[in-house]
Amino acid sequence: MHEIRFHGRGGTGAVMASRALAKAAFYAGKNAVSFPSFSAERRGALVLAFARINTKKIYRKSQIYEPDTIVVLDNSLIELKDVAKGLKPDGIGIINTTKKPEEITFSKEIDLGVVDATSIAKETLGHPFANSAILGSLIRSTELVGMEELEKGILSVFGAKLGEKQAKRNVEAARIGYEETQFGKSQGGRNYSKLQPWLPSVEELPIGAILPKTTVSTGQSIGPGSATTRITGTWSYIKADINQELCIKCLKCVFHCPEGTIHKKDDVVIVNKSYCKACGICESICPVNAITMIKIKEFSEIKP
Ligand code: SF4
Ligand code: SF4
Repeated sequence: MHEIRFHGRGGTGAVMASRALAKAAFYAGKNAVSFPSFSAERRGALVLAFARINTKKIYRKSQIYEPDTIVVLDNSLIELKDVAKGLKPDGIGIINTTKKPEEITFSKEIDLGVVDATSIAKETLGHPFANSAILGSLIRSTELVGMEELEKGILSVFGAKLGEKQAKRNVEAARIGYEETQFGKSQGGRNYSKLQPWLPSVEELPIGAILPKTTVSTGQSIGPGSATTRITGTWSYIKADINQELCIKCLKCVFHCPEGTIHKKDDVVIVNKSYCKACGICESICPVNAITMIKIKEFSEIKP
């Protein structure tokens, strides 16, 4: 499996790039998924987008913490965030920059493909959205898909949003990005410790750290046990439903449900619909097609 993490800002097209790449991989006969993670909802805020590509079925659903490739659409992010964090030792970074690889400093030395994707976008598209040009650079550097498949991916994803004419211009930008990519090695040793947020991430919490159970001013409870008070099943009328006659109790659905809302009780596998968010993962994972997504009429049907 090849995992790619895109670093961008709101409005720079990181999400569309990850989707177009996943679509291109699909056209190349591979399995692919892409999904974003947003911070504040405004232009310029940090955005992460992820893509996984594999010849086999993809079961991993988490964000990507140890990517094979990082793509940085806005090089100012290098100063703000350790974008190379977790990059595998044989991984590669694709950076939108006017600099040479050896002029760029990350937390560690990494292999780089660099391209001035913003200038390519300005010349080809008339605006600075670097996402298609950097996709050309990405496939040149990783050979994940060919240019033909990338063209199809861009025409499909960009075409649906921007129209065919603009999508074709983006294909042209990708071609130029492909041609103009230069390779080299970055510098390492940039220190990000002063930029640490005041709240530790989950990975950084010391073992044994305790979040107290409490109620905040809005009346919501937070801390241990509070998740049960949020009936996340009310996010959708669609619910997973298990046909007990077909179920062979392999428990695959139990382990793959991201909500932990499927469990085995008295030798029967049950979905607690109060917390089923209708992602459909269990339906796709069940080896005997025992799970179907059904529609409920009212949330009172699922309230605990
Ligand atoms: S649809 Fe998603 S949330 Fe609901 S039970 Fe299946 S895996 Fe869990
Ligand atoms: S994955 Fe399917 S067969 Fe296995 S326990 Fe779940 S519902 Fe039953």
